[in-house]
Amino acid sequence: MAIRTVVWGENVHEQTNKIVAGIYPNGMHSCIADALNSVPGISATTATLQEDEHGLTAARLAETDVLIWWGHCAHGEVSDEVVERVAEAVWSGMGLIVLHSGHFSKIFKRLMGTPCNLTWREAGERERLWLTSRNHPIAAGLPDSFELENEEMYGEPFGIPEPLETVFISWFQGGEVFRSGVTYKRGAGNVFYFRPGHETYPTYHDANVQKVIQNAVKWAHNPAARIANPTDAPNVPVDVAPEKIVERGPKLHHAGEDGYK
Ligand code: ZN
Repeated sequence: MAIRTVVWGENVHEQTNKIVAGIYPNGMHSCIADALNSVPGISATTATLQEDEHGLTAARLAETDVLIWWGHCAHGEVSDEVVERVAEAVWSGMGLIVLHSGHFSKIFKRLMGTPCNLTWREAGERERLWLTSRNHPIAAGLPDSFELENEEMYGEPFGIPEPLETVFISWFQGGEVFRSGVTYKRGAGNVFYFRPGHETYPTYHDANVQKVIQNAVKWAHNPAARIANPTDAPNVPVDVAPEKIVERGPKLHHAGEDGYK
C-alpha cells in the first residue's frame, strides 16, 4: 500500500503576498504534494490551517503515515488541542517532517522540548547543502553537495537537542553554517527537520529539494501498527509480575490504581 502522506500548509503567505502566490499559485503544500505524488509508492494529500481542526482530525491522523509541516506567520493560530493530537500520533508511530520556518511551530517545539531558535537573514544568499551522512536513505540519489541560488540564511547556534543523525549541513554565502537536515525518534515516530523552503524563493520546485522530501517520506514511514495509547503508564500488580515476588515495605499507591500524570 502507498505511504499515505498529508502535506500541511499554513497557507497564509500564498493568500496575502503576490510574490509567494506567483511562485506557488496553488500553495506550497500543493507543490510539495505534487512532487510526492510523482513517486510510485507515495500517496499525498494536503491540509491547511483554515480547514476545520486545521484538516487534522483524529480520523485523518489515524490514516496518515507521514505528516509534513510548513508554517511561519500563524504558528500561534494552531490550536493546542490539534498540536497535542499530532504529538500523540507521532508517539504512536506516525512520521513527521518539519520544513523550514516550522522550526518554531508548536508541534516541533513540543517534540523537541528546546527553544528551536536560530540566527537568520533574508538576503537571497546562495545556500550549499553538504551531505554529512553518505548512504543515509534520506540522501539517496543526491550528490555530495547541491546549491540553492537564493535562500534565506539560517545560522547556528540552532537550539535543538542533539540529533539522532545529521544528514545535511548548509553553508551560506554570508559565511554562516547550519545543521539543515536532522533526524529524531520521538516515541515510535520518526521525525526529520529539513531547512530549505523560504516562501519568496522557488525552493520547493527544486529537483534536489523534492528528492530529499520524497526520500524523507519513505524514511519516516513506520509500517508497524500504531501504538493505541502511547501515553499509557500501567500499574502492574504484584501477582502478575514476571517473577514471583512478595509485597513488602510501606506504600503510597493502591494495587491497580492509575497513579499521577
Ligand atoms: Zn523563511
